Amino acid sequence: MKSTAIVLTCAALVSGCFSTPTPLAPGIHGTVGVPNRGVLTESQELPVRGAGFVRYRPQSSHYFGRPRLVRALESSAASVAALAPGGAPLAIGDLSAKTGGRIPGHDSHRSGRDVDLLFLVTTPAGASVPSPGFVHFEGDGLARVPDSLDYVRLDVDREWLLLRALLTSPEIGVQFLFVCHEVEALLIDHARALGEPDTVVWQAETVMLEPSDSLRHDDHVHLRIACAPEEAVAGCSGGGPRWQWLPADAPVQPLQARDWDQIAKDDPFGFAGSPSFGPSEQARGF
Ligand SMILES: [Zn+2]
Repeated sequence: MKSTAIVLTCAALVSGCFSTPTPLAPGIHGTVGVPNRGVLTESQELPVRGAGFVRYRPQSSHYFGRPRLVRALESSAASVAALAPGGAPLAIGDLSAKTGGRIPGHDSHRSGRDVDLLFLVTTPAGASVPSPGFVHFEGDGLARVPDSLDYVRLDVDREWLLLRALLTSPEIGVQFLFVCHEVEALLIDHARALGEPDTVVWQAETVMLEPSDSLRHDDHVHLRIACAPEEAVAGCSGGGPRWQWLPADAPVQPLQARDWDQIAKDDPFGFAGSPSFGPSEQARGF
């Protein structure tokens, strides 16, 4: 019985160290852990609607993310609405739960860095219409609407405006845009035809990825943002490579003499001012 309790206690401590904020590590907060095994503190909820966007599931409680992700979604959707006015709003799918952790239907989306974006669509004739939901697009840019004879077309023009706004947002660094090869090809061809800067097109090609171990993402694009340097030191980790154009992780600063002095004065056992350590402290190696 006693050994079982010890094992459980150790397991709790170990998991606490790696994936959850804990009083034992007060510096761990924000987006903590990796996207498919993490949690979230200090989250912000995406409003039900805003300039150029609506929530796909207005009543869902899974619309929380890092505040900078929420701000980037709002500003990117607003920029599409300003650059191509009169179109249907972007429908935004799940972000994360308020405190992160597992939510139904997703392996990731656990640390406030992931969001599903339904595609912007038009009628086959080119009139912007609201998204009919998660419909599957083919390489010709068309998707059949289930239980109907209707088709919708990928709104390549506005979809590219959206992805470009996200890629160039000062709030976030895009780690991945999970999307199928066919949609990536349509968007990249469109960007090249527009004469977009090589750097933006190259970054878009780099972050767009059809996952090999999950859904193809032919019915939505899944945005994941990279850890910011200050988030990385507070527990954010993983989720993909650190692309060379993203800000580098904050370098670890070597301790200065005054830091060692402060550490020497810091006495967690309440012996401040005592001239020497007691036997138990010596045994612990302080
Ligand atoms: Zn997703």
